Amino acid sequence: ENPAPTSIAPATEPGSVGSLALTRLRLERAIAEAIEREELELFYQPIVRLGGGHVVGFEALARWRRSDGTLVPPGEFIWVLEDSKLILEFGRWVIRKAAADLRKLDAHHQPIRVDDEPLFCSVNLSVRQFGDPELLPVLRAALADHALQAGQLRLEITESGLLNNLNAALELIEQCRALGCRVVVDDFGTGYSSLWYLHSLPVDGLKLDRAFLQDSTRSDRGLRIVRAVGRLAADLDMSAIAEGIETPEQAAICHDLGLDYGQGYYFGRAVPLAQAQALLRRQVADL
Ligand code: C2E
Ligand code: MG
Ligand code: MG
Ligand code: MG
Repeated sequence: ENPAPTSIAPATEPGSVGSLALTRLRLERAIAEAIEREELELFYQPIVRLGGGHVVGFEALARWRRSDGTLVPPGEFIWVLEDSKLILEFGRWVIRKAAADLRKLDAHHQPIRVDDEPLFCSVNLSVRQFGDPELLPVLRAALADHALQAGQLRLEITESGLLNNLNAALELIEQCRALGCRVVVDDFGTGYSSLWYLHSLPVDGLKLDRAFLQDSTRSDRGLRIVRAVGRLAADLDMSAIAEGIETPEQAAICHDLGLDYGQGYYFGRAVPLAQAQALLRRQVADL
C-alpha cells in the first residue's frame, strides 16, 4: 500500500487575502523546485475490460513525493500549476514520462493482449495545454522515441476545461487524432452541455464520472443513466469507460448494462510503475 496522501495546505490566517496570495506564491515556488528536484511522479491505475477483468491500459496520475516522504495528491497541486505557466512544462513532462513507462509496461502485457490491441496509457490534459505549441511535437517525439503506436497514447480532457475553449479544443483534438492518438472526455456527465461536446468534438470515447456509478447502486434512476450513456457511446462508435468501480457488484452492473471498460479501486488503485508491472506479470501467471 502507498502511504496515505497528506495535506500540504499551509496554515493561513482566516479571511486574510494577503496571506492567501502569499500561500499560493509559496506553493508555486515549492512546486517549481519539486519539478527541478524530480519529486513529481506518475502512478498508474489499471483500466480493465469488463467481463474478463483483463488490463487493457493504465491512466497516468501525478503524485508529488516530498523530501520527507509524504505523497501529495494532484488535487492539491495541479491547480497551482494551472494558475502559472508551469503547467505547460509539467504537461510535457507527463507525456514523455508516460510514454517511457508505457514502453516498459507493454513488454509485460504482450502475452495477455486481447484482440491484438497493444496496451495503452491515458494522460490528463489541462485546458491550458490546448494552447501549447509544443504539445504536438512532444507527443510525436514521445511516440517515436519509445517506438509506440500512436493509438497507445490517449488524452483525457475534461468538460469544464472545454467550455471556454471549444475552438481551440476542436483544433487540438483534430491534430492529435491526425497523429493517431485517441482523445476521450473525462468525468463525462458532470459538467454542463456534455451532449454538445460529444456533438461538436470528434472524440473517441468518454469516461463516465464516478458519481453516476455510486448512485447506480442506490437508485434505479442512476442505473438507467449508466445504461443510457453506454448505449449513447455505442451509437456514436465511441468507447465508454466506467470510472470509480469500487465493488464487484458495480463491476457486474456496468458489464450487464453494456459498458466495455472499467476503472476503480475494485480493480486497483494508482500505483508506482514497478507495482503496475507486477500487476501485469500476475495476470500473465494467472493465464
Ligand atoms: P481524473 O482524471 O478523473 O482521475 C481519476 C481520479 O479518481 C484519481 O484521483 C483516482 O485515483 C480516483 N479514483 C480512481 N478510482 C476510484 C474509485 O474507485 N473511487 C474513488 N473514490 N476514486 C477513484 P487522483 O489521482 O487524486 O487525481 C485527481 C485528478 O487530478 C484527476 O482526476 C485529474 O483531473 C487530475 N490529474 C491527475 N494527474 C494529472 C496530470 O498529470 N495532469 C493533469 N492536468 N491533471 C491530472
Ligand atoms: Mg482522467
Ligand atoms: Mg475522471
Ligand atoms: Mg477529475
